Amino acid sequence: ANFFTIHDYPQGTPPRELFELRHATLPELNEDEVRIRNTWLSVDPYMRGRMSGVQTYVAPFELGAPLEGAAVGEVIESRHARFKVGDRVRHMAGWRDVAQLKGEVVEPLPDLEVSEQAFLGVLGMPGMTAWTGLNRIANLREGDNVLVSAAGGAVGSLAVQLAKSRGGTVVGIAGAPDKLEWLDQLGIRAVNYRGKDALRLSADLKAACPDGFDVYFENVGGACLEAALNNLKVGARIAVCGLISRYNDETPDPGPSNLAMLLIQRARMQGFIIFDHWTEYPHFLEEVGPRVARGEIEYEETVEEGLERAPEAFLKLFEGVNRGKMLVRL
Ligand code: NDP
Repeated sequence: ANFFTIHDYPQGTPPRELFELRHATLPELNEDEVRIRNTWLSVDPYMRGRMSGVQTYVAPFELGAPLEGAAVGEVIESRHARFKVGDRVRHMAGWRDVAQLKGEVVEPLPDLEVSEQAFLGVLGMPGMTAWTGLNRIANLREGDNVLVSAAGGAVGSLAVQLAKSRGGTVVGIAGAPDKLEWLDQLGIRAVNYRGKDALRLSADLKAACPDGFDVYFENVGGACLEAALNNLKVGARIAVCGLISRYNDETPDPGPSNLAMLLIQRARMQGFIIFDHWTEYPHFLEEVGPRVARGEIEYEETVEEGLERAPEAFLKLFEGVNRGKMLVRL
């Protein structure tokens, strides 16, 4: 099997040379194990945290060992009662072409008329994150005005669509021109953040939604958060999902200067980690799955071809190249 590993914990933006493609011969299958040929790999921003060598809510990647991440694939050999050859499955042994795992950590793909890679994006961890952040953390209500940052990404693009179907004004912040255009097509008011300081962005948000926001779904931090704080309604809720603009920082960034807006607007800001909410996945799938299958919810994918392109796929997350979910096809 071929797999990627890293040999160091980088400071700042990880260099391409950090990622090493290695080969290992897999042993015979043990009792209760399955062998899977991966067809799609996910790359996600949280993986940057696992490259920092510090324990956060997940352990750091082990240097020299295969990297991990969500993947879907096909069972090619099985010594586990629950799986047979040909089954389509999802698991966490990504960044490699062939995975060998205990059957208990492998799950069959849900039975829905959608592509298999949708279970890495709109109906996978990123989709579940959008749904949970809105419904369980920000307590989204009918008619709420909602602001989402990184709105053309995997999490953000579902968050804006779910919010829009609840009737209020929805504004999405994004950078890449094709993302802004897609948001437009989805009926979302799109605001570009690139080349703007917090004051300018704040004025543009005000123009897009003069009444202000009941909910801010935070994926970015920095100037986006500062601009969002200036546009809160009384009683606003902020779901702090991610702070991607900070993940490659070498020194701490001076935070928004206007955190007092939380106080003035009696707003609530709450962080969340999606794994704490995973027991609700069936509920999410029941609600959102059929809407994706019917084509009512759109999802986009940006695909890099071949295992050897996995590092490029990951690094592009920080350049804004991906629209919707960033994936690697094997
Ligand atoms: P995306 O698909 O949104 O990809 C990242 C996008 O972020 C890029 O395409 C880029 O789009 C934007 N971006 C990158 N750098 C910056 C920057 N400096 N300033 C503003 N925008 C930037 O990734 P995901 O949907 O997978 O993740 C979105 C967020 O959700 C991340 O912060 C992630 O860490 C978080 N997350 C949190 C989880 C949790 O449990 N709390 C679970 C899953 C994700 P653009 O063209 O707009 O610049």
